[in-house]
Amino acid sequence: MTAVDEHHEIRELAAKVAAEVFEPMAAHLDETRGPVPLAERRRLGDLGLLGIALPERFGGAGAVLPQALAVVEEFAKVCRPAAFQVFEANTGPAQVINHLGTEDQRRRWLPAIISGERTMAVAISEPDAGSAATDMRTRAERSGDGYVVNGVKRWISNGGEADQYLLYCRLSDAPGSKGIGAVVVEKGMDGLSFGPAERLMGFRGIPSADVVLENVRVPADNVVVPAGDFGRLFGVFSIERLGNATMSLAIAQEALDRTRVYVQEREQFGKPLVEFQSVQLTLANMLLRVEAARLLIERAAAGAGTGLPDPLHTSLAKCTANEMAKEVTDLAMQLHGGNGYTEEYGIERLHRDAHGWAIAGGTPTMQRIRIVSEMLGRRFDQRR
Ligand SMILES: Cc1cc2nc3c(=O)[nH]c(=O)nc-3n(C[C@H](O)[C@H](O)[C@H](O)COP(=O)(O)OP(=O)(O)OC[C@H]3O[C@@H](n4cnc5c(N)ncnc54)[C@H](O)[C@@H]3O)c2cc1C
Repeated sequence: MTAVDEHHEIRELAAKVAAEVFEPMAAHLDETRGPVPLAERRRLGDLGLLGIALPERFGGAGAVLPQALAVVEEFAKVCRPAAFQVFEANTGPAQVINHLGTEDQRRRWLPAIISGERTMAVAISEPDAGSAATDMRTRAERSGDGYVVNGVKRWISNGGEADQYLLYCRLSDAPGSKGIGAVVVEKGMDGLSFGPAERLMGFRGIPSADVVLENVRVPADNVVVPAGDFGRLFGVFSIERLGNATMSLAIAQEALDRTRVYVQEREQFGKPLVEFQSVQLTLANMLLRVEAARLLIERAAAGAGTGLPDPLHTSLAKCTANEMAKEVTDLAMQLHGGNGYTEEYGIERLHRDAHGWAIAGGTPTMQRIRIVSEMLGRRFDQRR
Protein backbone atom coordinates (compact mmCIF):
# COMPACT_ATOMS: atom_id res chain seq x y z
CA MET A 1 0.00 0.00 0.00
CA THR A 2 1.36 3.47 -0.87
CA ALA A 3 1.72 6.18 1.76
CA VAL A 4 -1.15 8.09 0.10
CA ASP A 5 -3.43 5.03 0.31
CA GLU A 6 -2.48 4.54 3.94
CA HIS A 7 -3.28 8.17 4.70
CA HIS A 8 -6.74 7.91 3.09
CA GLU A 9 -7.44 4.59 4.76
CA ILE A 10 -6.70 5.83 8.27
CA ARG A 11 -8.66 9.04 7.68
CA GLU A 12 -11.65 7.00 6.51
CA LEU A 13 -11.42 4.67 9.51
CA ALA A 14 -11.27 7.66 11.86
CA ALA A 15 -14.25 9.35 10.18
CA LYS A 16 -16.29 6.14 10.46
CA VAL A 17 -15.50 5.52 14.14
CA ALA A 18 -16.03 9.19 14.95
CA ALA A 19 -19.45 9.21 13.27
CA GLU A 20 -20.65 5.88 14.62
CA VAL A 21 -19.29 5.93 18.17
CA PHE A 22 -18.41 9.45 19.24
CA GLU A 23 -20.72 11.84 17.42
CA PRO A 24 -23.78 10.43 19.25
CA MET A 25 -22.16 11.14 22.65
CA ALA A 26 -20.68 14.58 21.82
CA ALA A 27 -23.58 16.76 22.97
CA HIS A 28 -23.93 14.73 26.17
CA LEU A 29 -20.23 15.09 27.02
CA ASP A 30 -20.51 18.84 26.45
CA GLU A 31 -23.61 19.10 28.62
CA THR A 32 -22.24 17.02 31.50
CA ARG A 33 -18.59 18.14 31.05
CA GLY A 34 -17.68 14.49 31.62
CA PRO A 35 -14.61 12.90 30.03
CA VAL A 36 -14.63 10.17 27.37
CA PRO A 37 -15.31 6.87 29.23
CA LEU A 38 -12.30 4.60 29.76
CA ALA A 39 -13.86 1.83 27.63
CA GLU A 40 -14.10 4.20 24.67
CA ARG A 41 -10.52 5.34 25.12
CA ARG A 42 -9.44 1.71 25.10
CA ARG A 43 -11.42 1.25 21.91
CA LEU A 44 -9.34 4.04 20.34
CA GLY A 45 -6.23 2.20 21.52
CA ASP A 46 -7.46 -1.14 20.15
CA LEU A 47 -8.07 0.49 16.78
CA GLY A 48 -4.48 1.74 16.76
CA LEU A 49 -5.47 5.40 16.82
CA LEU A 50 -3.50 6.42 19.91
CA GLY A 51 -0.08 5.47 18.60
CA ILE A 52 -0.14 6.43 14.94
CA ALA A 53 2.91 8.66 15.19
CA LEU A 54 4.67 6.63 17.90
CA PRO A 55 7.21 3.82 17.37
CA GLU A 56 6.12 0.33 16.34
CA ARG A 57 8.26 -1.35 18.99
CA PHE A 58 5.93 0.09 21.67
CA GLY A 59 2.71 -0.80 19.86
CA GLY A 60 2.43 2.29 17.66
CA ALA A 61 2.36 2.50 13.87
CA GLY A 62 5.53 4.57 13.42
CA ALA A 63 3.72 6.69 10.81
CA VAL A 64 4.39 10.29 9.86
CA LEU A 65 2.74 13.21 11.66
CA PRO A 66 0.23 14.07 8.87
CA GLN A 67 -1.46 10.68 9.42
CA ALA A 68 -1.99 11.39 13.12
CA LEU A 69 -3.30 14.87 12.32
CA ALA A 70 -5.79 13.47 9.79
CA VAL A 71 -7.24 11.32 12.60
CA VAL A 72 -7.31 14.24 15.04
CA GLU A 73 -9.18 16.24 12.39
CA GLU A 74 -11.85 13.61 11.73
CA PHE A 75 -12.59 13.19 15.44
CA ALA A 76 -12.46 16.91 16.18
CA LYS A 77 -15.10 17.66 13.56
CA VAL A 78 -17.71 15.78 15.55
CA CYS A 79 -16.44 15.18 19.12
CA ARG A 80 -13.59 17.24 20.58
CA PRO A 81 -13.34 15.21 23.81
CA ALA A 82 -12.60 12.08 21.73
CA ALA A 83 -10.25 14.04 19.47
CA PHE A 84 -8.45 15.24 22.58
CA GLN A 85 -7.55 11.64 23.45
CA VAL A 86 -6.05 11.13 19.98
CA PHE A 87 -4.34 14.55 20.14
CA GLU A 88 -2.84 14.02 23.59
CA ALA A 89 -1.49 10.53 22.82
CA ASN A 90 -0.14 11.31 19.34
CA THR A 91 0.99 14.92 19.59
CA GLY A 92 1.16 15.65 23.33
CA PRO A 93 3.60 14.74 26.10
CA ALA A 94 4.07 11.21 24.76
CA GLN A 95 6.06 12.79 21.94
CA VAL A 96 8.38 14.37 24.49
CA ILE A 97 8.96 10.92 25.98
CA ASN A 98 9.44 9.56 22.46
CA HIS A 99 11.91 12.20 21.30
CA LEU A 100 13.71 13.17 24.51
CA GLY A 101 13.23 10.29 26.97
CA THR A 102 15.55 7.35 27.54
CA GLU A 103 14.74 3.98 25.99
CA ASP A 104 13.79 2.76 29.47
CA GLN A 105 11.33 5.66 29.90
CA ARG A 106 9.80 5.00 26.49
CA ARG A 107 9.35 1.35 27.46
CA ARG A 108 7.78 2.33 30.81
CA TRP A 109 5.25 4.88 29.58
CA LEU A 110 4.52 4.62 25.86
CA PRO A 111 2.86 1.18 25.57
CA ALA A 112 0.11 2.03 28.10
CA ILE A 113 -0.56 5.39 26.39
CA ILE A 114 -0.75 3.72 22.98
CA SER A 115 -3.16 1.03 24.23
CA GLY A 116 -5.40 3.62 25.91
CA GLU A 117 -4.81 2.08 29.32
CA ARG A 118 -3.22 5.21 30.76
CA THR A 119 -3.02 8.87 29.78
CA MET A 120 -0.36 11.53 30.22
CA ALA A 121 -1.20 15.24 30.43
CA VAL A 122 1.20 18.16 30.11
CA ALA A 123 1.59 20.65 32.97
CA ILE A 124 3.44 23.84 32.05
CA SER A 125 1.26 26.85 32.99
CA GLU A 126 1.06 28.27 36.49
CA PRO A 127 -1.09 30.95 38.13
CA ASP A 128 1.63 33.56 37.49
CA ALA A 129 3.34 32.00 34.47
CA GLY A 130 1.17 31.62 31.36
CA SER A 131 2.61 33.29 28.25
CA ALA A 132 5.70 33.92 30.37
CA ALA A 133 6.17 30.18 30.91
CA THR A 134 9.81 30.62 31.87
CA ASP A 135 8.66 32.50 35.00
CA MET A 136 7.44 29.16 36.37
CA ARG A 137 8.19 28.49 40.02
CA THR A 138 7.39 24.81 40.44
CA ARG A 139 10.61 23.27 41.67
CA ALA A 140 12.12 19.81 41.93
CA GLU A 141 14.82 19.78 44.63
CA ARG A 142 17.39 17.01 44.72
CA SER A 143 16.83 14.86 47.80
CA GLY A 144 18.60 11.54 48.39
CA ASP A 145 18.29 9.41 45.27
CA GLY A 146 15.35 11.38 43.89
CA TYR A 147 13.61 14.77 43.88
CA VAL A 148 11.00 16.55 45.99
CA VAL A 149 8.58 18.64 43.93
CA ASN A 150 6.53 21.64 45.06
CA GLY A 151 4.32 24.00 43.08
CA VAL A 152 0.96 24.64 41.44
CA LYS A 153 0.09 24.13 37.78
CA ARG A 154 -2.98 25.79 36.26
CA TRP A 155 -5.36 25.12 33.34
CA ILE A 156 -4.16 21.56 32.98
CA SER A 157 -6.26 19.78 30.37
CA ASN A 158 -7.18 16.33 31.62
CA GLY A 159 -6.08 17.53 35.08
CA GLY A 160 -7.33 15.11 37.72
CA GLU A 161 -8.29 12.62 35.03
CA ALA A 162 -4.88 11.76 33.56
CA ASP A 163 -2.80 9.05 35.21
CA GLN A 164 0.51 10.82 34.66
CA TYR A 165 1.73 14.39 34.14
CA LEU A 166 4.73 15.60 32.23
CA LEU A 167 5.58 18.42 34.56
CA TYR A 168 7.77 21.30 33.41
CA CYS A 169 9.63 22.57 36.47
CA ARG A 170 12.83 24.08 37.84
CA LEU A 171 15.49 21.44 38.29
CA SER A 172 18.33 23.82 39.12
CA ASP A 173 18.87 27.34 40.47
CA ALA A 174 19.78 28.67 37.04
CA PRO A 175 17.49 31.62 36.15
CA GLY A 176 14.81 31.74 33.43
CA SER A 177 14.66 28.95 30.90
CA LYS A 178 18.12 27.62 31.87
CA GLY A 179 16.83 26.02 35.08
CA ILE A 180 13.78 24.35 33.50
CA GLY A 181 13.43 20.67 32.67
CA ALA A 182 10.65 18.08 32.88
CA VAL A 183 9.74 15.17 35.14
CA VAL A 184 6.88 12.70 35.14
CA VAL A 185 4.65 12.63 38.22
CA GLU A 186 2.09 9.89 38.63
CA LYS A 187 -1.40 9.95 40.12
CA GLY A 188 -1.33 8.33 43.53
CA MET A 189 2.05 9.77 44.53
CA ASP A 190 1.86 11.24 48.04
CA GLY A 191 1.40 15.02 47.96
CA LEU A 192 -0.11 15.16 44.45
CA SER A 193 -3.65 16.57 44.40
CA PHE A 194 -5.99 18.42 42.07
CA GLY A 195 -8.10 21.58 42.28
CA PRO A 196 -11.82 21.60 41.55
CA ALA A 197 -12.87 21.04 37.95
CA GLU A 198 -12.74 24.33 36.02
CA ARG A 199 -15.97 25.47 34.38
CA LEU A 200 -14.71 26.57 30.99
CA MET A 201 -16.62 28.31 28.17
CA GLY A 202 -15.79 25.42 25.86
CA PHE A 203 -13.52 22.36 26.06
CA ARG A 204 -16.33 20.60 27.93
CA GLY A 205 -15.72 16.88 28.11
CA ILE A 206 -12.02 17.66 28.50
CA PRO A 207 -11.56 18.09 32.26
CA SER A 208 -9.37 20.97 33.39
CA ALA A 209 -7.95 21.50 36.87
CA ASP A 210 -5.02 22.77 38.89
CA VAL A 211 -2.34 20.21 39.65
CA VAL A 212 -0.97 20.79 43.15
CA LEU A 213 2.38 19.37 44.28
CA GLU A 214 3.24 19.37 47.96
CA ASN A 215 6.51 17.62 48.73
CA VAL A 216 5.92 15.00 46.05
CA ARG A 217 8.83 12.53 46.00
CA VAL A 218 9.80 11.63 42.47
CA PRO A 219 12.46 9.02 41.58
CA ALA A 220 15.45 10.31 39.63
CA ASP A 221 14.62 8.09 36.68
CA ASN A 222 11.36 10.05 36.19
CA VAL A 223 13.42 13.04 34.99
CA VAL A 224 12.82 13.15 31.25
CA VAL A 225 14.60 16.40 30.46
CA PRO A 226 17.26 17.85 32.77
CA ALA A 227 17.65 21.56 33.51
CA GLY A 228 19.03 23.45 30.54
CA ASP A 229 17.19 21.58 27.80
CA PHE A 230 14.17 23.88 27.69
CA GLY A 231 14.87 24.68 24.04
CA ARG A 232 14.62 21.01 23.10
CA LEU A 233 11.42 20.66 25.16
CA PHE A 234 9.82 23.49 23.24
CA GLY A 235 11.15 22.07 19.99
CA VAL A 236 9.04 18.96 20.57
CA PHE A 237 6.11 21.12 21.73
CA SER A 238 5.80 22.20 18.07
CA ILE A 239 4.22 18.79 17.44
CA GLU A 240 1.54 19.57 20.04
CA ARG A 241 1.01 22.99 18.48
CA LEU A 242 0.26 21.35 15.13
CA GLY A 243 -2.21 19.04 16.90
CA ASN A 244 -3.78 22.17 18.38
CA ALA A 245 -3.88 23.89 14.96
CA THR A 246 -5.58 20.80 13.55
CA MET A 247 -8.28 21.00 16.23
CA SER A 248 -8.98 24.55 15.05
CA LEU A 249 -8.97 23.46 11.42
CA ALA A 250 -11.47 20.67 12.12
CA ILE A 251 -13.76 22.99 14.05
CA ALA A 252 -13.81 25.49 11.19
CA GLN A 253 -14.22 22.81 8.51
CA GLU A 254 -17.22 21.40 10.34
CA ALA A 255 -18.75 24.86 10.76
CA LEU A 256 -18.26 25.49 7.05
CA ASP A 257 -19.69 22.10 6.03
CA ARG A 258 -22.80 22.63 8.12
CA THR A 259 -23.22 26.17 6.84
CA ARG A 260 -22.89 25.05 3.24
CA VAL A 261 -25.88 22.76 3.72
CA TYR A 262 -27.89 25.22 5.79
CA VAL A 263 -27.72 28.17 3.40
CA GLN A 264 -28.98 25.99 0.55
CA GLU A 265 -31.94 24.74 2.59
CA ARG A 266 -33.04 27.75 4.59
CA GLU A 267 -35.25 30.15 2.64
CA GLN A 268 -35.97 33.83 3.30
CA PHE A 269 -37.68 36.31 0.98
CA GLY A 270 -38.84 33.32 -1.05
CA LYS A 271 -35.46 31.88 -1.95
CA PRO A 272 -32.57 29.95 -0.36
CA LEU A 273 -30.10 32.10 1.60
CA VAL A 274 -27.32 31.10 -0.78
CA GLU A 275 -29.00 33.05 -3.57
CA PHE A 276 -28.06 36.30 -1.84
CA GLN A 277 -24.70 37.55 -3.03
CA SER A 278 -23.48 38.63 0.40
CA VAL A 279 -24.10 35.07 1.63
CA GLN A 280 -22.07 33.73 -1.30
CA LEU A 281 -19.21 36.09 -0.47
CA THR A 282 -19.28 35.10 3.20
CA LEU A 283 -19.19 31.43 2.23
CA ALA A 284 -16.27 32.08 -0.12
CA ASN A 285 -14.39 33.93 2.63
CA MET A 286 -14.94 31.02 4.99
CA LEU A 287 -13.53 28.55 2.46
CA LEU A 288 -10.58 30.83 1.66
CA ARG A 289 -9.63 31.00 5.32
CA VAL A 290 -10.08 27.28 6.00
CA GLU A 291 -8.01 26.24 2.98
CA ALA A 292 -5.21 28.70 3.76
CA ALA A 293 -4.91 27.31 7.29
CA ARG A 294 -5.06 23.74 5.98
CA LEU A 295 -2.15 24.33 3.61
CA LEU A 296 -0.03 25.92 6.33
CA ILE A 297 -0.68 22.97 8.65
CA GLU A 298 0.03 20.47 5.88
CA ARG A 299 3.32 22.16 5.03
CA ALA A 300 4.48 22.17 8.63
CA ALA A 301 3.40 18.56 9.22
CA ALA A 302 4.86 17.26 5.95
CA GLY A 303 8.18 18.87 6.88
CA ALA A 304 8.15 17.08 10.23
CA GLY A 305 7.64 13.54 8.93
CA THR A 306 8.51 11.38 11.93
CA GLY A 307 10.71 14.14 13.36
CA LEU A 308 10.12 17.71 14.48
CA PRO A 309 8.29 20.47 12.61
CA ASP A 310 9.96 23.73 11.70
CA PRO A 311 9.09 26.25 14.45
CA LEU A 312 8.33 29.09 12.01
CA HIS A 313 6.04 26.89 9.93
CA THR A 314 4.38 25.68 13.15
CA SER A 315 3.66 29.15 14.54
CA LEU A 316 2.41 30.39 11.15
CA ALA A 317 0.02 27.42 11.04
CA LYS A 318 -1.16 27.66 14.65
CA CYS A 319 -1.71 31.41 14.61
CA THR A 320 -3.60 31.28 11.31
CA ALA A 321 -5.72 28.25 12.24
CA ASN A 322 -6.62 29.52 15.72
CA GLU A 323 -7.78 32.92 14.52
CA MET A 324 -9.44 31.46 11.45
CA ALA A 325 -11.54 29.02 13.53
CA LYS A 326 -12.84 31.77 15.79
CA GLU A 327 -13.85 33.86 12.76
CA VAL A 328 -15.26 31.05 10.63
CA THR A 329 -17.41 29.70 13.47
CA ASP A 330 -18.61 33.24 14.15
CA LEU A 331 -19.63 33.61 10.48
CA ALA A 332 -21.29 30.19 10.60
CA MET A 333 -23.33 31.32 13.59
CA GLN A 334 -24.28 34.50 11.76
CA LEU A 335 -25.46 32.58 8.67
CA HIS A 336 -27.46 30.17 10.85
CA GLY A 337 -29.35 33.11 12.40
CA GLY A 338 -31.24 32.21 15.59
CA ASN A 339 -30.64 28.51 14.97
CA GLY A 340 -26.88 29.12 15.19
CA TYR A 341 -27.33 30.45 18.68
CA THR A 342 -29.12 27.35 19.96
CA GLU A 343 -27.31 24.35 21.40
CA GLU A 344 -29.37 22.13 19.11
CA TYR A 345 -27.40 23.04 15.98
CA GLY A 346 -23.97 22.58 17.56
CA ILE A 347 -22.57 25.75 15.95
CA GLU A 348 -22.24 27.61 19.26
CA ARG A 349 -20.31 24.62 20.66
CA LEU A 350 -17.87 24.85 17.76
CA HIS A 351 -17.45 28.56 18.44
CA ARG A 352 -16.88 28.01 22.18
CA ASP A 353 -14.27 25.33 21.49
CA ALA A 354 -12.53 27.49 18.86
CA HIS A 355 -11.78 30.08 21.53
CA GLY A 356 -10.23 27.49 23.85
CA TRP A 357 -7.80 26.10 21.28
CA ALA A 358 -6.67 29.63 20.48
CA ILE A 359 -5.49 30.15 24.07
CA ALA A 360 -4.09 26.68 24.77
CA GLY A 361 -0.56 26.04 23.53
CA GLY A 362 0.32 29.75 23.39
CA THR A 363 -1.89 32.62 22.21
CA PRO A 364 -1.84 34.00 18.64
CA THR A 365 -0.02 37.05 19.99
CA MET A 366 2.76 34.85 21.38
CA GLN A 367 2.89 32.96 18.06
CA ARG A 368 3.37 36.29 16.28
CA ILE A 369 6.28 37.13 18.56
CA ARG A 370 7.76 33.74 17.69
CA ILE A 371 7.13 34.30 13.97
CA VAL A 372 9.03 37.61 13.95
CA SER A 373 11.79 36.10 16.03
CA GLU A 374 12.19 33.20 13.56
CA MET A 375 11.84 35.50 10.56
CA LEU A 376 14.57 37.87 11.73
CA GLY A 377 16.74 35.28 13.42
CA ARG A 378 16.83 37.13 16.73
CA ARG A 379 15.13 36.91 20.10
CA PHE A 380 13.06 39.68 21.63
CA ASP A 381 13.34 39.69 25.39
CA GLN A 382 9.80 40.42 26.64
CA ARG A 383 11.15 41.39 30.07
CA ARG A 384 13.20 44.40 29.01
C1 LIG B 1 -8.68 25.56 27.15
C2 LIG B 1 -7.29 25.65 27.69
C3 LIG B 1 -6.51 24.52 27.81
C4 LIG B 1 -5.21 24.60 28.32
N1 LIG B 1 -4.48 23.47 28.53
C5 LIG B 1 -3.27 23.55 29.12
C6 LIG B 1 -2.54 22.37 29.45
O1 LIG B 1 -2.99 21.25 29.19
N2 LIG B 1 -1.33 22.50 30.05
C7 LIG B 1 -0.80 23.71 30.35
O2 LIG B 1 0.30 23.77 30.87
N3 LIG B 1 -1.48 24.87 30.07
C8 LIG B 1 -2.70 24.80 29.48
N4 LIG B 1 -3.41 25.94 29.20
C9 LIG B 1 -2.84 27.23 29.58
C10 LIG B 1 -2.42 28.07 28.37
O3 LIG B 1 -1.21 27.58 27.84
C11 LIG B 1 -2.31 29.54 28.85
O4 LIG B 1 -3.61 29.95 29.22
C12 LIG B 1 -1.77 30.44 27.76
O5 LIG B 1 -0.41 30.16 27.49
C13 LIG B 1 -1.93 31.91 28.13
O6 LIG B 1 -1.48 32.15 29.43
P1 LIG B 1 -2.42 32.96 30.46
O7 LIG B 1 -3.76 32.36 30.45
O8 LIG B 1 -1.70 33.06 31.74
O9 LIG B 1 -2.57 34.40 29.82
P2 LIG B 1 -1.52 35.58 29.94
O10 LIG B 1 -0.15 35.10 29.68
O11 LIG B 1 -1.79 36.33 31.19
O12 LIG B 1 -1.94 36.47 28.68
C14 LIG B 1 -3.08 37.34 28.70
C15 LIG B 1 -3.06 38.14 27.40
O13 LIG B 1 -1.88 38.94 27.36
C16 LIG B 1 -1.16 38.67 26.15
N5 LIG B 1 0.28 38.76 26.40
C17 LIG B 1 1.01 38.09 27.33
N6 LIG B 1 2.31 38.39 27.19
C18 LIG B 1 2.42 39.24 26.15
C19 LIG B 1 3.50 39.91 25.49
N7 LIG B 1 4.76 39.71 25.86
N8 LIG B 1 3.23 40.72 24.44
C20 LIG B 1 1.94 40.91 24.03
N9 LIG B 1 0.87 40.31 24.61
C21 LIG B 1 1.11 39.49 25.64
C22 LIG B 1 -1.58 37.26 25.74
O14 LIG B 1 -1.42 37.05 24.34
C23 LIG B 1 -3.05 37.24 26.16
O15 LIG B 1 -3.83 37.83 25.15
C24 LIG B 1 -4.69 25.87 28.70
C25 LIG B 1 -5.49 27.02 28.55
C26 LIG B 1 -6.78 26.92 28.07
C27 LIG B 1 -7.65 28.15 27.97
